[in-house]
Amino acid sequence: PNRDYQLLASDDAEAQQAGKQVSASRLFGLARQEVWPLAAGSLVLLIGAAAQVYFPKLAGDLIDVAIQHEAGGSPKEARRRTSAILVQILAVLAISATADGLRSWLFQSAAERVMFRLRTRLFAALLRQEVGFYDRVRTGELTNRLSEDTRMIKTVATSSIASALRSAAICSLGLAMMFATSWLLTSLVLCAIPPLFALFWLFARISRRFVKEQLAASARATTVAEEVFSNVRTVRSFAKEGAMQASYEQAQRRTLYFGLRSAALEAVFFPVHTSLATGTMMIVLWWGARLVIDSRMSAGALSAFVVYAVYVAANFGMLMGVFSSVVQALGAGERVFQLLDRQPAQDLSSGTQRPQGSPAGGELVLRDVHFAYPSRPGAWVLRGLSLHVAPGNKVALVGPSGGGKSTIVALIERFYDPQRGSVLLDGVPLPSIDHVYLHSQVALVSQEPVLFAASIADNIAFGCPGGSASQEQIEAAARIANAHDFICSFPQGYQTLVGERGVRLSGGQKQRVAIARAIIMQPRVLLLDEATSALDAESEHMVQEALDRIAAGRTVVVIAHRLSTVQAADTVAVVEGGCIAEQGSHQQLLEAGGVYAALVRRQLLFASVSQPAP
Ligand code: ADP
Repeated sequence: PNRDYQLLASDDAEAQQAGKQVSASRLFGLARQEVWPLAAGSLVLLIGAAAQVYFPKLAGDLIDVAIQHEAGGSPKEARRRTSAILVQILAVLAISATADGLRSWLFQSAAERVMFRLRTRLFAALLRQEVGFYDRVRTGELTNRLSEDTRMIKTVATSSIASALRSAAICSLGLAMMFATSWLLTSLVLCAIPPLFALFWLFARISRRFVKEQLAASARATTVAEEVFSNVRTVRSFAKEGAMQASYEQAQRRTLYFGLRSAALEAVFFPVHTSLATGTMMIVLWWGARLVIDSRMSAGALSAFVVYAVYVAANFGMLMGVFSSVVQALGAGERVFQLLDRQPAQDLSSGTQRPQGSPAGGELVLRDVHFAYPSRPGAWVLRGLSLHVAPGNKVALVGPSGGGKSTIVALIERFYDPQRGSVLLDGVPLPSIDHVYLHSQVALVSQEPVLFAASIADNIAFGCPGGSASQEQIEAAARIANAHDFICSFPQGYQTLVGERGVRLSGGQKQRVAIARAIIMQPRVLLLDEATSALDAESEHMVQEALDRIAAGRTVVVIAHRLSTVQAADTVAVVEGGCIAEQGSHQQLLEAGGVYAALVRRQLLFASVSQPAP
């Protein structure tokens, strides 16, 4: 049931072990850069706490003045004394308000900066991970880490420290004042503290587990929801609303289960805790009353004492509350640090080389490549595959579905590294080539290109290695890609938004934007995944023309679905069972009468062209 979480957790058991031990200190270590604001915050916090603690004393003084006056003193003197106390009250109020405001600002702003840094660092750590990592982890889990866990950590790493400090300060100052007022009553109060503490420790221990489980379950529910929302058409077309509802409910039920256990725990814990605290207080008051009757204490002092005790108790409670949120944040911290620490299986920064000759020659070699997807280790997809593509040559990959054609393309893009053998560009193994350089030389246009939720211009400029392209460059690329005319037919032209909230482009239009995005990059190597039959004849022609233009003079590896593509290629490579079964020109292979000829004869390769009309 806990699969996703374990998937992440078991990813690096060692890091997880280490993570457990260090996460508390690392959690607070996050605030290290905020040491000055936090130090200043702590100082004003102490001032504010001291001011707070002074109030009960002033209250006690007032009561004593009143009582003494009642017992027969001069009204003038009593009034003078109350006025003096009022001045003190106003002064202390001003100090306490200023200190509280400053404290609040210093700690909260530090917290916001901590969260900013944590989120950006985590995002960078995630972006660094290899593609295989994303095959295994659900994106919902990751976005949850990024938003929820970081938020929880932010609060704890800074503002919770603040309130803990404040509560601790008020507790100890209050206790000191209590001792000064009556050591006897204070000793009585102190007797109640060990059982209260033990109770809290037990509560926190159990509660931590529940919270952790609940968070994991809730993340799973989010994932289900995200998946359903983004695939709403599929859900609708299969009328699977019921099944989706059920799987969401199942995930939420687990959230509910642990939520209820937390609720039950709190329902038992808090009344016991409150009764213990209130009981202690009433007994102290009872005893205090006897002390006043015996004239061993003034009524004002008793009032002050009671207020101090209430302060101390309330702040002690807050301290414990902070403790439990620290416990929650430790769970969140474990997960976040685990991701922050994860070493990607592919190091994108390892490559430094830029093969000679700018632009690169564009020679591609796959040498004895063995490859299994990390998500399915042991299931060999490529088994000793070798392929050579001379600079400027065009290779068409054909073969039965599932043979490994797309996998070859993924390896040339270095989405994955092969377990054995190597992929070389201009004689240099891909891992040794500078990451940015490699992807400025190799472009991929896939069957179903994904565009960003941005303007068409931005989507095309995305292909530019520098990141920014001029309007002229964008338009030139769009013209070559046969996209300029349809883009201009939109009222907002190149500024038209595409994606979720923008216009919906047809499959052919999307592909032409993607081709423009590749063209602007001026790659030496072009990887194409030809659309099968999703396009109507008109847009197929437009797309084909665009592809022919962009392919001119470049090394091209195309997953071919059309006879015309195969005929135009320098070489046809038949990929079957993870190997190149045959290689040669279309004509040569037909004449050879091998696998290729058989596939063509059985109409397994170019169904769209060779099938007779019904
Ligand atoms: P083709 O492009 O020739 O149809 P693919 O390269 O897509 O073949 O797939 C080859 C094999 O690899 C198939 O058995 C497929 O199930 C598997 N495969 C493809 N992509 C992945 C992936 N991301 N994770 C695990 N297995 C995959």
